[in-house]
Amino acid sequence: MKVLLNRGRLRGVKNSLYIVFLGAPGAGKGTQAARVAQELKLAHIATGDLFRQALEQGTDLAMKAKSYVEKGVLVPDEITIRMVLERISAPDCEKGVIFDGFPRNLKQAQALDKALAKEGKAVEKVVYIKVSVEELLNRLSGRWICRQCQTPYHTVNSPPRVWGKCDKCGGELYQRPDDTVETVKKRLEVYFTETASLIDYYTQAGKLLEIDGEGSVDEVARRIVPILSGLAGSLSTRGRDGYNY
Ligand code: AMP
Repeated sequence: MKVLLNRGRLRGVKNSLYIVFLGAPGAGKGTQAARVAQELKLAHIATGDLFRQALEQGTDLAMKAKSYVEKGVLVPDEITIRMVLERISAPDCEKGVIFDGFPRNLKQAQALDKALAKEGKAVEKVVYIKVSVEELLNRLSGRWICRQCQTPYHTVNSPPRVWGKCDKCGGELYQRPDDTVETVKKRLEVYFTETASLIDYYTQAGKLLEIDGEGSVDEVARRIVPILSGLAGSLSTRGRDGYNY
């Protein structure tokens, strides 16, 4: 019985992949995370998107999160952690998850580690996308996003073919209300005071993978995808019981 339980735990560890994307607002982590999730066929959990969806739908969660999201400060951990843990227990997360915008501080990182450890699982790698502050401000202040498929555009760097319309799906482009200069500054400040400490946390755990986030979306993707595909590949060549054959 004991052996069977252990094998069950191993199965959890080896056959699902949990990857965290870390980086300042505007570093491109959302774009890259979505791409990698599609490529590796993993669920993509973007906490900012979950909060924005809740706000649009006016759910209970929205009532609790609204004032924080609008100010560009972190939603309290208790609310955020509960939302994420609920989300990762959904069937589409069985093979693993790409986390985008979570964890954002040490308490969230520890809560995630603890919840995964209970299932015999763990965060495998943390992709830290590094971009200079100057470039972050430039990117965020000109950012427009498709309301339907979330593709980002930039007034100068990557304008859409038809102004106001998404090239991919024809959806309406909008500017996030928290992409105003004041809120952008606040979000960057929050990032540097709260989230940047996670770089140390994951470095010490030997999980950090630092990626240069400057350059085109394709260039940055080429720095990330092969590494993560290798990881996913090494998992899928293992047997159902978690051992290599
Ligand atoms: P983002 O789209 O990731 O920039 O997130 C937009 C906003 O959602 C943030 O400014 C926060 O108010 C909130 N938010 C997103 N993720 C988290 C998180 N992990 N913890 C707390 N608040 C979050």
